[in-house]
Amino acid sequence: MTSSVDPADSADLLGPVEIRSMAERLGVSPTKKLGQNFVHDPNTVRRIVAAADLSPDEHVVEIGPGLGSLTLALLDTVERVTAVEIDSRLAAELPATVENRAAPFADRLRVVEKDALRISAEDLDTPTALVANLPYNVSVPVLLHFLATFPSIRRVLVMVQAEVADRLAAVPGSKIYGVPSVKAAFYGDVRRAGSIGRNVFWPAPKIESGLVRIDRFLPGSEPWPIDAEARARVFPIVDAAFAQRRKTLRAALAGYYGSPAAAGEALAAAGIDPQLRGERLSVADFVHLAGVDS
Ligand code: SAM
Repeated sequence: MTSSVDPADSADLLGPVEIRSMAERLGVSPTKKLGQNFVHDPNTVRRIVAAADLSPDEHVVEIGPGLGSLTLALLDTVERVTAVEIDSRLAAELPATVENRAAPFADRLRVVEKDALRISAEDLDTPTALVANLPYNVSVPVLLHFLATFPSIRRVLVMVQAEVADRLAAVPGSKIYGVPSVKAAFYGDVRRAGSIGRNVFWPAPKIESGLVRIDRFLPGSEPWPIDAEARARVFPIVDAAFAQRRKTLRAALAGYYGSPAAAGEALAAAGIDPQLRGERLSVADFVHLAGVDS
């Protein structure tokens, strides 16, 4: 089944028949190692693009374009898309797919064949948004790597495993609140943006997926500095606080500060009860403890 829109002025999106036949032609058997679950439902990719709320002049970076399902819908919507794909067969095929199914937009696409975790600022020219169906095994590290590497990314809309989506958007005090929740919230407003069933993928994964949207704090209105220097002070404390979740902050941060007493003093000086556990602290508390907001 293909999209019902006119290919003359819109991209011709990929359905189940196209996905299967492209994979067969390219000799691609989806691997778990690379988190290869391809979306074969045009409505889902349209939904993802709509949830990203993009303006036409954006430069979107897509991580893991795969066979191009989401890429085609993005090219319909924005003037530049850079797609970062680790699998050389998929990276090589993508321009031809776009030429065949979205010819008027072909010059909007650039493909970078590389491991997304190894992308550096020199590889991409100031992307403004990250929109992706992320490879599940590296979704959180890849997301945090891109937020750290590209301050120009103001909006994120990613599809991840439902439980990862819940963890990213969790608030202090909940059982699933942890390192990914705090680190994502360091950059901006994080929220769930919908659920996606298993059947829109080939092959179907074992678990449901979820959409997460992040709106980076607006320049000039950041509640704290969100640069590399601030990150280098805040993130090690977050890692230490959650490394031993069950311990009080005084005990969990003893290694970081040199002793339980020193940790207790630092916490008390920041107005934080040393007997609390890390899961009670908001990102603002961690920032305050690190002295970044002073
Ligand atoms: N966007 C496509 C879609 O929605 O149908 C494919 C999504 S699939 C879940 C993940 C994609 O990420 C695959 O194409 C896989 O080859 C690619 N990938 C996996 N690990 C990667 C990495 N470290 N860097 C870049 N791409 C990666």
